[in-house]
Amino acid sequence: MTATRPVPDVPTRPVLRNDYQRSVATYWNNEKDPVNLRLGDVDGLYHHHYGIGDYDPAVLGGPEEAIIAEMHRLETAQADVLLDHLGDIPPNGRLMDGGSGRGGTSFMANQRFGCQVDGVTISEAQVAFANDQARQRGVDDQVRFHFRNMLDTGFETGSMNGIWTNETTMYVDLDDLYGEFARLIPFGGRYVCVTGCYNDVTGGRSKAVSQIDQHYTCNIHPRSKYFEALAANHFVPINVVDLTAATIPYWELRAKSSVATGIEDPFLTAYREGSFHYLLIAADRI
Ligand code: SAH
Repeated sequence: MTATRPVPDVPTRPVLRNDYQRSVATYWNNEKDPVNLRLGDVDGLYHHHYGIGDYDPAVLGGPEEAIIAEMHRLETAQADVLLDHLGDIPPNGRLMDGGSGRGGTSFMANQRFGCQVDGVTISEAQVAFANDQARQRGVDDQVRFHFRNMLDTGFETGSMNGIWTNETTMYVDLDDLYGEFARLIPFGGRYVCVTGCYNDVTGGRSKAVSQIDQHYTCNIHPRSKYFEALAANHFVPINVVDLTAATIPYWELRAKSSVATGIEDPFLTAYREGSFHYLLIAADRI
């Protein structure tokens, strides 16, 4: 008889490999921005991504809480569209949230599919926050957050029915990322990405895109790089949705709100001038 060995939650290799990853982790460990926390307080789903869809103009004349709730509604709508593209995931399936933040999209996925979800983030503060949320929601046996690097998760080969990344790919090398995802997702599994990327057609990185990079300590990739890296790693896109027009109203509302952070103008400039897209890519592992 073989004894079952406990599986350690922390991979044996160090999670943070270089100074850049350490600086990103420090940013997210210290992040307490009202644009994220006040919106999350609306219903306990904490997002660190942007919204899509038209806002109700009536909120502009109302109390500040109405604007906050409306921005939160648009951010939740974004995550719903992302999850729509995962297809059918059975209740005994398993999903991974690459760069899980405070866990909002992971909880929505668990609610929708009833399946196990593993979120990974390089911020230990986010891991603690999101695992606490899981306990409060009574789903900590199904939704778990781990201090792991999505470039080298330590999860078993072929263990995930699907993976998504919601605004996290600008922090990593895409070849390294999709190499790891190709290992985790077996043939026929789905990957969904929502990201900002710059437009190869208008040339290199625009000034507005550089301002966004600087604000978040990230490195926005060109649109072409996504398709190159996906194809090189056995992922074939089935849907590509340009969400740029759908996200502009969110940024207009955010610019008028009390929780604006100052990055609203570069986003609006970049989207309106066409140097930047808000893109959803759904791809199958072949
Ligand atoms: N997807 C979440 C959070 C987006 S914010 C949401 O939609 O709310 C970006 C996230 O990427 C942060 O949680 C950050 O810790 C994570 N991240 C950045 N680089 C990472 C890496 N190499 N491995 C895992 N997570 C990473």
